[in-house]
Amino acid sequence: MNISAENICAKTPFLGMTHSDLVDLCQQAGVKPVHADHLVATVFRYYQSDIDAISTIPNILKTYLAAHASMFEPECTAAQLAADGTRKLVLKMADGKAVETVLIKGANRLTQCISTQVGCAVGCTFCLTATAGLSRNLTAAEMVSEVWAGQKISGGQVSNIVLMGMGEPLHNYHAVAQFLEIITDAKGMAFSPNRVTLSTSGMVPAMYRMLEDKWPCNLAVSLNATTDAVRDQIIPINRKYPIATLMQAVRDYIQQRGNKRVLIEYVMLAGVNDSLDDAKRLCVLLDDLHCTINLLPFNAYPGAAFDRPNDAAVSEFQAVLVEAGLIAIIRQSKGRDISAACGQLITSIKKRNDSGRL
Ligand code: SAH
Ligand code: SF4
Repeated sequence: MNISAENICAKTPFLGMTHSDLVDLCQQAGVKPVHADHLVATVFRYYQSDIDAISTIPNILKTYLAAHASMFEPECTAAQLAADGTRKLVLKMADGKAVETVLIKGANRLTQCISTQVGCAVGCTFCLTATAGLSRNLTAAEMVSEVWAGQKISGGQVSNIVLMGMGEPLHNYHAVAQFLEIITDAKGMAFSPNRVTLSTSGMVPAMYRMLEDKWPCNLAVSLNATTDAVRDQIIPINRKYPIATLMQAVRDYIQQRGNKRVLIEYVMLAGVNDSLDDAKRLCVLLDDLHCTINLLPFNAYPGAAFDRPNDAAVSEFQAVLVEAGLIAIIRQSKGRDISAACGQLITSIKKRNDSGRL
């Protein structure tokens, strides 16, 4: 395809096209819809960006694509490797915005953490991404290009996707829906929906909407506090959707998805939400809930207003949950030495005041 910087905006980004978009495009080009299958299989499964080199599609379709679609691949401006094998990629999008994505090695999996926005508007007081504010939403094509870059650098080893990078995915509803459709297309990237997890800070109406729209992914919820007084302070959206409303949405979600297990994330902030009383309240909130709890000891960064609890406090907190019959795992975030851990992704930092807040 003939790709030039000027015509990218005028053309539809190929990586943001779903299977049915490609079927439409084949019809517009006057070729059989089956060629959409060839395109999906070659481009999305084998990461072939040179459309001219695809032998299974007719020339008329190649010409049509060259005129109507752009194949933009972001430039990888930095690729850092942490001591534990975690890799962070910084991708430069067409407008120059930098987006971070992280590849995390597990025992028998490679998980890629995807950013859904440049920055974030939610403003959680413990999260470095929040300090940049929201710059803009990412398009579906840009999110797919993150996976593309991850697969290229890992030799196609990415097995799991988590939408836990920069941004609140449910604030970018339409593009995320399109992204999920593309990456779980069985003829293309073919990620199993069981291996894709979306994390939200608690956008209750959008949680019901994703349920209605049957999104092909698991749900993770960043609960992070056991009282509204604390949650109001650390996750401002709690004032709109308080804990009781959020937990009802989680219960409805589990029930309507046939008892599907939900992941509850709990960032542990020393002296804020890590007491044994918090642990006991968490047991009550999560009683009989089909969930796994990820305890995330706070990942610090320069200027942060919070501290990481010590290991003993984290273990004691976990023990209370386990004794109550809950499944609670301590997640030691990987890649901390290259600022690739949860809440450490950022593109630019606005100045904080003395309290560490914006
Ligand atoms: N916006 C979504 C997803 C991105 S944040 C959300 O908030 O759920 C992914 C996870 O990182 C969330 O659970 C969030 O609470 C957690 N997190 C943010 N900053 C953190 C930090 N500094 N240390 C540990 N976890 C953090
Ligand atoms: Fe946004 Fe999630 Fe960070 Fe909160 S924790 S500011 S929702 S990215």
